[in-house]
Amino acid sequence: MTIDLEALFIDLHRNPELSFQEVRTAGIAAGHLRDLGLEVTQGVGRTGVVGVLRNGDGPVVWARADMDALPVVEESGLPYASTARGVDAEGREVGIMHACGHDMHVTAMIGAVEELVRTRDEWSGTLVVVIQPAEEFGAGARAMLDDGALDRFPRPDVVIGQHVTPLPAGMIGVRPGPQMSASDGLHVVLHGRGGHGSRPHSTIDPVVMAAATVMRLQTVVSREVDPHDLAVVTVGAIHAGTKNNIIPAEATLDLSLRYPDDALRTKMLAKVERVIKAEAMASGATEEPTIETLHTLPATINDAAATERATAAFRAAFGEDNVVDPGLFTGSEDVSWFARDAGVPLVFWFWGGIAPARFAAAVAHGTVDSEIATNHSPYFAVEIHPTIEVGVKALTVAAREFLG
Ligand SMILES: [Zn+2]
Ligand SMILES: [Zn+2]
Repeated sequence: MTIDLEALFIDLHRNPELSFQEVRTAGIAAGHLRDLGLEVTQGVGRTGVVGVLRNGDGPVVWARADMDALPVVEESGLPYASTARGVDAEGREVGIMHACGHDMHVTAMIGAVEELVRTRDEWSGTLVVVIQPAEEFGAGARAMLDDGALDRFPRPDVVIGQHVTPLPAGMIGVRPGPQMSASDGLHVVLHGRGGHGSRPHSTIDPVVMAAATVMRLQTVVSREVDPHDLAVVTVGAIHAGTKNNIIPAEATLDLSLRYPDDALRTKMLAKVERVIKAEAMASGATEEPTIETLHTLPATINDAAATERATAAFRAAFGEDNVVDPGLFTGSEDVSWFARDAGVPLVFWFWGGIAPARFAAAVAHGTVDSEIATNHSPYFAVEIHPTIEVGVKALTVAAREFLG
């Protein structure tokens, strides 16, 4: 009996769950892994699942898939679009969507495990399947490690994983060395002094302070970072006030910062902090802004030798033209904590999820950036086929490359 992967993907897509709330998804993944004969442990790092497939002597490969969805109202127009709603970690009611494709990650993983079980006479070693929660919080890998994942299960010799991305379906993007940026999430509270909207002179207006801060932050990358360096400062959330005629007491900003390495990270954090504090001072604030780190993600660095091996295997499996160097991504991932904590190589690659004809037309019209929705967009839509098949094959090929 083979698992209906299309039905699995559609079911996961229709029923997305927020970070650390992936109870249903974890249960479904665990059920499939159990049916396939793996030793399954649930509740690792809150909602994480680990499945172990022992198949004789040989290397231990950890294959990781993340499973959480995002607080996004889906606008993809797909017949199986999500209408799910839920409550986020801050207690807000939000729409939920698999806008980052983690539904595809879980689907491809289940398919790959099925294939590896079917072909178990052809390899030996141990496969450890890691279904990780809360990647979007940058906290799930850490939670599983803090829950003893490296001690409770066979330690890895290599960690592999993949992410679906806006490349044409059928393409694999992989590179040795830096693959994804390091990232910090910051929560900033700007303290002003509230009062009546008709008497601004008696207040310290945090709305104006926030507006000036957001604009000035735009100059950090454009004026202070070497143009050769890849860096991003995004203010993704800004909140203040309740009513037109009340000047509120404070405003909050949520920032996302990206950089390729730790050296630039230190510099950028100092610059961002300087701008935030200086704008508060310029506004006459009597209290310094509060700056809290929401999460810190390391750069995703692919091990050179292991990545060469995986890339050669991908070329043999998919053809020379279908394996490309996608360049350094400004997105970030927490997958590398597993490899870093274990002190072993990481190989993390991207695979395309966009209909090739649609992608080619967008390239021809020069409209890739505007027409091909990226991860985290409410319009993000993964082509089911051949994305599932390519994802299954890529994981299987890479796992087999490192298993005995
Ligand atoms: Zn994401
Ligand atoms: Zn993602």
